[in-house]
Amino acid sequence: MTTISQAPAPVVAPGRLFIDGEWRDAADGGTRPTVSPVDGSETAPIAHGTPADVDAAVRAARQAFDSGPWSRMGGHERARVLLAVADLIERDAEEIAYRETVDMGKPIMFARQEVPFVAMAYRYFAGLATQLSGATRPTATPTFTYTLREPVGVVGAITPFNFPLVLATTKLAPALAAGNTVVHKPSEATPLSALKIAELFAEAGLPAGVLNVITGPGAELGQALSAHPAVDKISFTGSTAVGREIIRTAAESLKKVTMELGGKSPNIVFADAYLDQAVQQAFFGIFYNKGEICTAGSRLLVQRPVYEEVVGKLVEQAAATLPGNPLDPQTLFGPLAHRAQFEKVTEYTRIGRAEGAALLTGGEAYRPEGLEGGLYFRPTVFGDVDSAMRIAQEEIFGPVLSVIPFDTEEDAIALANGTQYGLAAGVHTSDVKRAHRVARALKAGTCWINTYNLFDPAVPFGGYKASGFGREFGPEALESYTQTKSVWTDLS
Ligand code: NAD
Repeated sequence: MTTISQAPAPVVAPGRLFIDGEWRDAADGGTRPTVSPVDGSETAPIAHGTPADVDAAVRAARQAFDSGPWSRMGGHERARVLLAVADLIERDAEEIAYRETVDMGKPIMFARQEVPFVAMAYRYFAGLATQLSGATRPTATPTFTYTLREPVGVVGAITPFNFPLVLATTKLAPALAAGNTVVHKPSEATPLSALKIAELFAEAGLPAGVLNVITGPGAELGQALSAHPAVDKISFTGSTAVGREIIRTAAESLKKVTMELGGKSPNIVFADAYLDQAVQQAFFGIFYNKGEICTAGSRLLVQRPVYEEVVGKLVEQAAATLPGNPLDPQTLFGPLAHRAQFEKVTEYTRIGRAEGAALLTGGEAYRPEGLEGGLYFRPTVFGDVDSAMRIAQEEIFGPVLSVIPFDTEEDAIALANGTQYGLAAGVHTSDVKRAHRVARALKAGTCWINTYNLFDPAVPFGGYKASGFGREFGPEALESYTQTKSVWTDLS
């Protein structure tokens, strides 16, 4: 087993911001330690940026966009840098995975899988950078008229704590491929991989000012970025409440916004499903990444004839899954990412009990030997949940599953669509017609049939309803970082 002390130490100059191609101190020199949820130890000092630093980063990005060359160069040249970054990410894979794990408690087994996925995403968007094109359009008058797809300008990218590396990539890769410049504000809880990626972009030859990274107090810096008049677009991933606030702030300067927000996703198991497979998908649907995943299948809807069997198998597996040191390559389930998360999950298990749901397993903290300072919480399953309960309606964003029985297909669809959210959904059935019928009836941006939590850089991802708007991944993502110009030429 790898212990924290044996793991590779971060090599980026700690406690600094990346602005205009340089590592700089925060304007007032402030730093704060990040605290690892693995054991409560302080990992590295991180620059505590200020609004003055946001301003400096935006100015650098503005200057880099307006003067080029990044925003004006051909897609093939930009692709070269993105391909080089993908290679460097693979070169430093172990260090990057380690940073994710100590920063947010993600089991290193999964962090190691995310690194090549991210390299693949950079390569995918490097390819798309060479494909950006407009169209010629027939007009009613004698003209030669065509469209150009041009970058939007300066993009403010604000990302959450739960997939720091992957969710930075879903923004940086398409934004940079399209020729934009970026100011990235990672979560204050998990900044370590963003700093590493900035270092690798500099090594790959990205011109100064094209990517800037500011760390520090989330709300203050995020608001300064959302309000800054020289920012053209905010690309946000995070909670629905903060998303609303950013939209209000960004409206003042009419910024473009894309919003990847919260979820309360249903995972529906019909009686004709392949049950063992469905139980596995239900288990990883909620407990992958400790439930700290926007698509968490946090509402398990089970048809009554198989309710006891499905719940019994799931509870058995959850009860046997003890949280452990995420740096151990065998660990499937690590600590929650930060203290507020731990308290929120604890509070929701109290609410579930008070609402009268049946606590079937978990519902309490866990103390692995030697890691008493960590934020470990047991996988938790509530049975016989009523859809009106708060634990069935509100995003907990932790390892807490609400199981709801249903009778008919119509009931399942109504229950599945019965929250404000619409991020993702799962359907488990052996009836191919039912599978596609239900997928079409679900109000969600992603539907998985007989599987769950699959992602690919080529497949668009995003929300319906209060889960947001805009799409990440796929050609749709590249489009959302461009704007269309129509050029008319008189031929009369
Ligand atoms: P959060 O909304 O608290 O924070 C997200 C980011 O916004 C962080 O960088 C934070 O520092 C910053 N921020 C906080 N207050 C701000 C403000 N007032 N103005 C501007 N920026 C501000 O979210 P979180 O706790 O980091 O992440 C969990 C949430 O993210 C969950 O709701 C989850 O569903 C959502 N999420 C969504 C997706 C998706 O793709 N739809 C993916 C991952 C996470």
